[in-house]
Amino acid sequence: MTKIKEGIIDALSENDCFLSKQELIEKLKSKKIKPARSTIYRELRFLIANRIIIKNTIKGIDYFEIPQNYHYHLICLKCGKISQVRINNFLKNLEKQIAKQNNFNIIYHSFNIYGYCHQCQTYLSKK
Ligand SMILES: [Zn+2]
Ligand SMILES: [Zn+2]
Repeated sequence: MTKIKEGIIDALSENDCFLSKQELIEKLKSKKIKPARSTIYRELRFLIANRIIIKNTIKGIDYFEIPQNYHYHLICLKCGKISQVRINNFLKNLEKQIAKQNNFNIIYHSFNIYGYCHQCQTYLSKK
């Protein structure tokens, strides 16, 4: 485990939801880790390939996250704000059922709900 990999994993687990590449670089900087961008990309690719982290591309921006604490994402189409929605046991069980019925070994899920956040709704209705 390289120092950079460890730094990326630490930063993502502290955050507990998505971080963009830029945010991730900022977090690493605050941990006194300043790798070259090409090194970060290589480490990210490795971590994704080994299913340690997941990548989600939203509106052309790559976001990274450790698949911990089950949650879905609410993504605002206007300001791009991403919020978490904790999911309940009903959905967890549903996923288990889907896995069983389809004999599918689920490693992670990525469920995004798109729409307008509260602030943007207010803004759009005033227009
Ligand atoms: Zn998340
Ligand atoms: Zn918004």
